[in-house]
Amino acid sequence: MWTTLAHVSRFGIVIVRTDTDKPKHKGLTMFVVDMQGPGVEVRPLVQATGEAEFNEVYFTDVRVHDSERLGDIGEGWGVSLTTLMNERVSIGGQVHPQGSGIIALVRHIYEQHAEDAGGAARDEFAQLWIEAEVNRLTNIRASQSRKKGTPGPEGSVGKLAMALLNQRMMSFTMNVMGAEAMLYPAGYPMSRPATAMDLSSPQKAFIRVQANSIEGGTTHIMKNILGERVLGLPGEPRVDKDRPWSEVPRS
Ligand SMILES: Cc1cc2nc3c(=O)[nH]c(=O)nc-3n(C[C@H](O)[C@H](O)[C@H](O)COP(=O)(O)OP(=O)(O)OC[C@H]3O[C@@H](n4cnc5c(N)ncnc54)[C@H](O)[C@@H]3O)c2cc1C
Repeated sequence: MWTTLAHVSRFGIVIVRTDTDKPKHKGLTMFVVDMQGPGVEVRPLVQATGEAEFNEVYFTDVRVHDSERLGDIGEGWGVSLTTLMNERVSIGGQVHPQGSGIIALVRHIYEQHAEDAGGAARDEFAQLWIEAEVNRLTNIRASQSRKKGTPGPEGSVGKLAMALLNQRMMSFTMNVMGAEAMLYPAGYPMSRPATAMDLSSPQKAFIRVQANSIEGGTTHIMKNILGERVLGLPGEPRVDKDRPWSEVPRS
């Protein structure tokens, strides 16, 4: 199991395969686990930025009382989807004030280099600003419509768009910085921050945003979700959909 910022959270949620005779999305059960309990070992995973925002967690003979179960036995996938949809909205669907967040960092760096960067960079910066604003306004609209209830598959829109835009914004920033972009001013000491996505230096932010298209579900998976569950396009072939998990070949 992986968990984000487990060193600052007392409790984690863990999904366990409780029935191997059911197909892969069935037979899973979700539990709340005391991260400081006996047999729970939290090992930091060091990222390319030098920071360990999240961890891999090992369980050795850990016992969890049934009262710590979240949802019904075998229904963990449904519970997990609820947490995943909320995670996606928290990654890509948050509404920030205009011009804040990553675009503020991009603007700050661009303005320092605007004279040397030339007209093409000005055009690119304007385009990025517009897209950041379009994302922000789309997120405002989406947040209004989900005021009640759990976010659905449409939460993947913001996650998909944010991941790709963040990567373009930080690539642009590195380009306008030139050789300075190769310096890593924060140094490389392993640290375990209390919050994710530290934007304190553009170089660190550039490396960190590469994970945006992986974490919380990859860009390809977001496209599958939107294609199938929002646009109603034909589904991907799924040969193991109805096959008992124990019979699915794996390495
Ligand atoms: C910074 C960071 C933080 C994370 N934090 C956590 C955390 O706190 N908790 C946690 O549990 N996990 C966490 N993860 C793990 C993350 O959720 C997974 O890495 C992610 O969901 C992708 O799964 P995978 O690595 O198994 O890749 P795979 O599923 O093996 O995918 C490999 C590649 O194949 C593509 N692919 C896979 N299936 C399909 C398909 N059906 N159609 C098209 N393309 C496909 C993917 O897009 C990807 O490019 C984190 C990852 C990162 C990078």
